Amino acid sequence: MRKKIVAGNWKMNLDYNEGLSLFSEVINMVKDEATGTQEVVVCSPFIHLHSLAQLAKGYNKISVGAQNAHQAESGAYTGEVSAKQVKSVGAGYVILGHSERRQYFGENNELLAKKTDTALKNGLKPIFCIGETLQEREANQHFDIIKSQLVEGVFHLDAEAFGTLVLAYEPVWAIGTGVTASAEQAQEIHAFIRKELAAKYGEQVADDTTILYGGSCNPKNAAELFAQPDIDGGLIGGASLKSRDFTDIVKAFN
Ligand code: PEP
Repeated sequence: MRKKIVAGNWKMNLDYNEGLSLFSEVINMVKDEATGTQEVVVCSPFIHLHSLAQLAKGYNKISVGAQNAHQAESGAYTGEVSAKQVKSVGAGYVILGHSERRQYFGENNELLAKKTDTALKNGLKPIFCIGETLQEREANQHFDIIKSQLVEGVFHLDAEAFGTLVLAYEPVWAIGTGVTASAEQAQEIHAFIRKELAAKYGEQVADDTTILYGGSCNPKNAAELFAQPDIDGGLIGGASLKSRDFTDIVKAFN
């Protein structure tokens, strides 16, 4: 049975102490919530990762992740952080292809394919984000965009490597805007993604792949979104900065 995940994306928020306090609160509030195939992941800025990984030790349903990692193994890339470095502090996941990285840092599918390879080689599980802009949806191009992000970003992987990935469908028009995709809109795309996975890797891989929804997910809309057959949890931005909201989203599975 595929894993259900609620992952927080803190983005560039919280200083060191604020991050540690929030994560301690989250651990206390969710430690008895995540059961069975459920997992809670918090993707923090790099500065928090080591300490959060220490706090998460002993809780096998709570993990930490980074929000980015460089495509090279190491070298003269001032200011960058490698996948090996992220792994070495105890992180298990890395978000790749977030629309903010695509938009503000020019990350394209070709670069993201390299980042995915390097992350996997270093034992990190990518949370690979895909999603269309409002303009693309209005031009009825959303299925083509999603497909090309999959084909160019991750379909070079063999089935075994692909099995390590988590996918996140995040319509760009819903991220940080307060506008959520309706449960039907999200389910339609998730079902499309799973169909594409089945065509490429077979039914078993498609069935086993965790596909998260992201975009203004909150305690009010999470239960309806998570009840959809192809939505396996959420990637949560703004609401992951409040322990109560984040925990209520985790509880939305129950
Ligand atoms: C995100 O950044 O991945 C995200 C989904 O943000 P928000 O929940 O704030 O829309």
